[in-house]
Amino acid sequence: MVQIHSPRPFFSMTLEAFLSKRVVTPEGVRAAVVLVEGERIRGVAPIGKVPRDARVQDFGEAAILPGLVDSHAHINEPGRTEWEGFETGTRAAAAGGYTMLVDMPLNCLPPPTTVGALEAKRAAARGKCRVDWAAWGGVVSDNQQDIEPLGSAGVLGFKCFLIHPGIDGFTMVTEQELRAALPHVARTGLPLLVHAELSGPIDAATATLGAADWRSYPTYLKSRPDEAELSAIRLLVALCREYRFRLHVVHLSTCEGLALLRAARSEGLPVSVETCPHYLHLTAETIGDGAALCKCAPPVRSRENRERLWQGLREGVIDLVATDHSPCPPSMKKLDEGDFRTAWGGIASLSMALPVMWTGMRARGFGLCDLARLMAEKPAELAGLGGCKGRIAIDYDADFVIFDPEAEIEVTADQLHTRHCISPYVGKWLRGKVVGTYVRGKAVFAEGAFVERPFGLEV
Ligand SMILES: [Zn+2]
Repeated sequence: MVQIHSPRPFFSMTLEAFLSKRVVTPEGVRAAVVLVEGERIRGVAPIGKVPRDARVQDFGEAAILPGLVDSHAHINEPGRTEWEGFETGTRAAAAGGYTMLVDMPLNCLPPPTTVGALEAKRAAARGKCRVDWAAWGGVVSDNQQDIEPLGSAGVLGFKCFLIHPGIDGFTMVTEQELRAALPHVARTGLPLLVHAELSGPIDAATATLGAADWRSYPTYLKSRPDEAELSAIRLLVALCREYRFRLHVVHLSTCEGLALLRAARSEGLPVSVETCPHYLHLTAETIGDGAALCKCAPPVRSRENRERLWQGLREGVIDLVATDHSPCPPSMKKLDEGDFRTAWGGIASLSMALPVMWTGMRARGFGLCDLARLMAEKPAELAGLGGCKGRIAIDYDADFVIFDPEAEIEVTADQLHTRHCISPYVGKWLRGKVVGTYVRGKAVFAEGAFVERPFGLEV
């Protein structure tokens, strides 16, 4: 720690000063000091202007980024805490540089499709969270009357599935059920996040596979064709035009969808889209037989598809990157059989999404400002938190990730901090290391250890 004196203090004496040669603000990366009073950012000043009695933490060459915001995390509590849970999920988030998670309704029991179930989730989260959190509510086949009450009760938006989600307890919606829900969704003004795959093309493709080898990744890939996503996106864009709700397409995996989304946006429709670290890192060509750790839905596609998704990010057609952190017990990943048909589809990545993304970004000429925009600012905006989370700016929460962008790390299971430390990234060498994570001004993770009792709150 260094103490820097300036002749005139210009704030109160209780300031903390976070100093770095690379502070990442919406205006750019610069040497600066971020002044924090209590839980909020009070200013960003040149390094020479540190108030005399501020407590200074000098991070040197390590970058200070806004704390990452994940708008797509499956915490699975209450009900399936043995899959993950608030304690382990937010621990992994803190270690991964995330300071805010928005929890997906799928997999917890009861899922927050009613106000009562939302209250059960709040009770389950109390006292366990190392980062801040909030909930998406669920839109299911029969809860149209619960949508507006959920909005009033504090969910930040809604999630629905156009295809069976792979588990009971959360029903998909048909077009007819969605039509019944959309006027309610539109009245809340909140976004509807949609798993955009339709079963028709998947059923047709699967029927042609006959006795194919389900340990082979190409079999699984053929069973979930691009057309499943494309037909869903076409339907959603048409419904968005008709009902004018805020449509957000989650985990886009096919680059073929970009043209549809670009056209919808140029028409002025309120449409946004995310993709995930695994679609930007893994490729179908390199997923070996039986490597069910890499199974997710929609699937990881070809290398060429991956590069076109990167192009979609570069051109701003894809708004943001969310993890779709979706863990399960190792037995459900069928690691012994390696059967892509029966293994649970989901990749847990909260603790490694930042280095996974930075490795790919650095290789393609993206910078730290892009990282902050795609993984903090835009997810916060989607969740309606654009005024308090996701930026280093005056009056924002003092949420930071201290990040060494040059470090090289080999991913090991003990760095994951999830309930089940399995990941397709274990053994990979990645660029970038989380040095520390601060939530509302206080350290929650530093030098590989958790340094505070959990104090994360629902936002
Ligand atoms: Zn998901």
